[in-house]
Amino acid sequence: MEAQATTTPTFELKDIISHAKEYGFVFPSSELYDGLQAVYDYGQNGVQLKNNLKQLWWKAMTQAQQSIVGIDASIFMHPLTWKASGHVDAFNDPMIDNKDSKKRYRADQLLETKAEAYAEAGTPEKGTALLHEMARLLDANDLAGVRDLILAEDIRCPISGTKNWTDVRQFNLMFSTQVGSVAEDADVIYLRPETAQGIFVNYLNVQKTGRMKIPFGIAQIGKAFRNEIVARQFTFRMREFEQMEMQFFVRPGTEGEWYDHWKEQRMRFHQAIGIAPGHLRYHDHEKLAHYAKAAVDVEYKFPFGFKEIEGIHSRTDFDLKSHQELSGKKIQYFDNELNQNYIPYVIETSVGADRLFLATFCEALKTVVTGEGEQARERTILDLHPALAPVKAAILPLTKKDGLPEKGEAIYKALRTEFECYFEEKDSIGKRYTRQDLIGTPFCIAVDHQSLEDDTVTVRHRNSGQQERLPIAALADTIGKQVSLTSILRNL
Ligand code: ATP
Repeated sequence: MEAQATTTPTFELKDIISHAKEYGFVFPSSELYDGLQAVYDYGQNGVQLKNNLKQLWWKAMTQAQQSIVGIDASIFMHPLTWKASGHVDAFNDPMIDNKDSKKRYRADQLLETKAEAYAEAGTPEKGTALLHEMARLLDANDLAGVRDLILAEDIRCPISGTKNWTDVRQFNLMFSTQVGSVAEDADVIYLRPETAQGIFVNYLNVQKTGRMKIPFGIAQIGKAFRNEIVARQFTFRMREFEQMEMQFFVRPGTEGEWYDHWKEQRMRFHQAIGIAPGHLRYHDHEKLAHYAKAAVDVEYKFPFGFKEIEGIHSRTDFDLKSHQELSGKKIQYFDNELNQNYIPYVIETSVGADRLFLATFCEALKTVVTGEGEQARERTILDLHPALAPVKAAILPLTKKDGLPEKGEAIYKALRTEFECYFEEKDSIGKRYTRQDLIGTPFCIAVDHQSLEDDTVTVRHRNSGQQERLPIAALADTIGKQVSLTSILRNL
């Protein structure tokens, strides 16, 4: 049914942002007061799409896995957690200001953009050499060297066009606040910059109470906060966002094969939700984080270029070992088969719910041409997988009289306990179809006079615009199968 449509790409980021706002997906935070930079709210349709993505991830990473369980840790954690994890000392971005435009930039991003320019100009080897040099300087914390490199590469402020740069400074991305009622007694604590540490500090609790045997994993979805220096590109880089992370604990020496396993699994996930394989790619890290042995990003082709949506990291025993050292509590696993104690190694998969949302949304918004010759018509649709769509079926009586609304409402009441439905009787049927296309509703159910006679309805398919006649009694089952998350999980 869905095949006849041809697609013409593509939308720019500004089109994505305005569509997301106009159709109730994403609003700027506290917009009444002109918004708050890099913070966004999800609207009535956005929250459904985001929840569906989170639920799918949760099911794929826990229910569908033999040896992964989930937890829900707090945002506030003991401050020593962040000392052990390295975030207090090393969770910095190098920033630089242009004195003429007063604009602030991430020094590493200026150099990365230059490297991309080399690649586009047909001299990728120059870009690679530049990235190597940047990694070397950052590793050595040689910030003056980073500034010299920016000058040597003739990098100018895109706004002022000058090279009037300040020194490069390190900026810690963690937000802090206080716990305690009296200011003098209050302890500084941080809003977690990642969910992973909530998993590490609960490793022993879960392993013991769940009688978990290595290899096993712990998954979590939750908010994280980063005081990003440059916040732009909509929900791609926010100061408050959600992460979906899984730490997989393995026997030391087996981390290579598990790294490959999760690298492949996570790519399958992104393809299964409907992202075209050509819009996804791996990107191996040049500069490894302080904890990592190997790291790869899964990147999506956003309207502003290929950018990270998920990271897969081989973290060794870095985190558990530091927590053991700083807490003074033994964090070890006794491996029956080896008759040996060790600190497990960790493979992490870490995807941002908001970036996944944005990728899914960018991928889905398209113009399709249906019909041929004089019948050909261009329509904009949100081509979401039916299981991810905010509304699964819209029930639309053809007219507002002759008992059609009552018939439609009865169908709506019966179906809405099965999946998310919408009922509307206002406006022409064409206008109502269009509105549903724009929010991604896969099925529109039109109730007409024939429905009163033989209890059948017309089901219109979003992508092809084609219609079929179905008995009302078959709707719950026929549509239900196609809009269930299980239909995606089976393909993983
Ligand atoms: P970037 O290099 O883009 O800053 P990162 O490498 O710091 O990202 P990780 O620390 O690996 O990101 O975090 C894992 C995932 O969390 C990222 O792949 C991304 O999807 C999400 N994420 C990280 N920072 C943000 C942010 N500021 N806004 C939205 N999502 C984010």
